[in-house]
Amino acid sequence: MRIASVAGRAVVVRDDGFVDVALASEGTLPSETLALVAQIDRLTSWYSPEVALTEEIAAADLALDSRIGPVVTSPSQVFAIGLNYRTHALEMGLVTPPKPMVFTKFPSCLTSATSTFSLFSDEVDWEAELVVVIGSGGRDLTVEEAPGAIAGYCVGQDISNRALQLLGSPAQFSLGKSHRNYGPVGPWITTADEIPDPNDLAISCSVNDILYQDASTSDMIFSVFQIVAYLSTVCELHPGDLIFTGSPAGVGQGHRPPIFLRSGDVVATTIERLGSLRNVAE
Ligand code: ZN
Repeated sequence: MRIASVAGRAVVVRDDGFVDVALASEGTLPSETLALVAQIDRLTSWYSPEVALTEEIAAADLALDSRIGPVVTSPSQVFAIGLNYRTHALEMGLVTPPKPMVFTKFPSCLTSATSTFSLFSDEVDWEAELVVVIGSGGRDLTVEEAPGAIAGYCVGQDISNRALQLLGSPAQFSLGKSHRNYGPVGPWITTADEIPDPNDLAISCSVNDILYQDASTSDMIFSVFQIVAYLSTVCELHPGDLIFTGSPAGVGQGHRPPIFLRSGDVVATTIERLGSLRNVAE
């Protein structure tokens, strides 16, 4: 099942349109995705293909509907994992961390699959990432318990102002990745029951139709379930929390000389079975 936030309301996305979850369930299910992801089991037991569409839309237009917002707004926590693909650690000239390297993208950077973003320096870069959406969450989860804590997955783009990120030593990651609209997440949540192995998905990023990142989530150093379990040993994970799980090789900083985004560039980020983002630099 695919769940999106359309004009702020939680919908089930079908090939032919949207089902407004709160309307169609007559208020027994919540109207916002942040609350709905805590009740995925109730949603899946209520929903059936016989539920009537609230709005019909031609299939080709669905993902580009400008009313689709970020998959959740104002989650309590947004985690991001640095250097989680060996090839990316190499290209950045940084050593592979012994445990997941964690920073945050502050939640005010979250935006939709089709939003534009401003260039806050001459060194703004792209990072295609698989994003985990926490469902029930919890504390001290084992790797075996982690899948049950996850609501689903979406495509993310960890847009990074390298000038701010790498200013000084040691580098500080969080601010340089948290400018307005530097966290596109979408176009929708694909529920975890449809993605039994999140570490077996093709992931790619192109800029102006030039393919720069082309990898598999199987190349992660720390798997999705290991990351969820590890984070939960420190922080309680809440429904709707997001985890950006790291980016493969092929970012602009990794090129010699580096390549950074310019005004008008179109950043297209795609993950197998989850969809695509299309974000334009202003
Ligand atoms: Zn990243």
